[in-house]
Amino acid sequence: ISAGMPGTEESIKVAVRARPLNQREKKLECDICVSMSGKTVTMLSERNPKHFTYDYTYWSVQSGEGSQTEIFEDIGNSMLSNAIDGFNCTLFAYGQTGSGKSYTMMGGGQEEEDGGVIPRMIDGLFAEKERLEKESSQELQVRISYLEIYKEQVTDLFAALNSRNSKAVCICKEHPNVGVYVKGLKLMPCETQQDVMSNLEYGLKMRTIAATNMNQNSSRSHAVFTIVVNRLEGERPTGKKKDERKSLNAKINLIDLAGSERTSKAQTEHERLKEGCAINQSLSQLGLVIKMLTEQSKDGGLKAPMFRASKLTFLLKDSLAGNSKTCMMATISPASDNYDESISTLRFASSVK
Ligand code: ADP
Repeated sequence: ISAGMPGTEESIKVAVRARPLNQREKKLECDICVSMSGKTVTMLSERNPKHFTYDYTYWSVQSGEGSQTEIFEDIGNSMLSNAIDGFNCTLFAYGQTGSGKSYTMMGGGQEEEDGGVIPRMIDGLFAEKERLEKESSQELQVRISYLEIYKEQVTDLFAALNSRNSKAVCICKEHPNVGVYVKGLKLMPCETQQDVMSNLEYGLKMRTIAATNMNQNSSRSHAVFTIVVNRLEGERPTGKKKDERKSLNAKINLIDLAGSERTSKAQTEHERLKEGCAINQSLSQLGLVIKMLTEQSKDGGLKAPMFRASKLTFLLKDSLAGNSKTCMMATISPASDNYDESISTLRFASSVK
């Protein structure tokens, strides 16, 4: 099977989503300082309103607007079909803690409507697997991995699954033939949607436990959930025969980034400061790398050493460069109380285009 061209669309898309006011903001009777119109987001201020333009905007300030569905239709669906066609895809959720990154990625509440990009993507993937396997002689293999990056250290959230003594802390390596890989990272084969969801829940639990043990909050780390999709052509070999089927391979990276807020002055003790520096450094490096990739598609030059400046960009090198699709979802609070953080998120989201 050969990969087609991923279309002529730009390979980097930027979306902005404003969540509803939370209880605290309602209690404080905060004003709403954001407005959206078409693809333009405006930060309202009497003297100097600021306008920003993106590929997609989602106004979720009034509840019940169904933007979870809309986001999946705009962004998730095309990532899924690109991955099935052999193109790597990456979705980042960027924004201050509490602005809706996890809600966008995973969802909230018990209703199916509340489900975020990840459960919808998994739904779609297994529906497509069933269809392909029924209607053609192809097979879709699904494997997943889940890791966390905290203070430039990579931890495998699946390390303890099925085996007790495997190491959780991993090292990123680069090989001339296989590219960048995480040594020893567990790739869990999944046969059903339920397999994926239960592994994912396990990983989320490990993330919370690890954070609590270190007396930290999990919003201070980046979580990278990866779905590896292999589309194989022809009959599955029987017995001990070697599998020599042609295949199309792609990765879907779904990334919940560490909160983008600056560490508050009250927290400038040594450890917090180091942690804050690591976060700021890796987020700004991510911005630079994405920007470089946008520019490189214009001028053709690729500056490889830039990827090495942080674990996150190094790890994603093969997924971001080349024929791949990247989307940045910037999440903001609409409350005047968060004006400074929201404007800094909007600036970051603009800078990557
Ligand atoms: P983050 O991951 O950025 O720290 P969360 O996704 O945990 O933030 O969101 C904080 C709270 O706001 C959660 O209770 C979440 O359910 C709620 N929330 C966030 N975005 C939305 C939205 N678009 N619609 C409804 N509730 C939301």
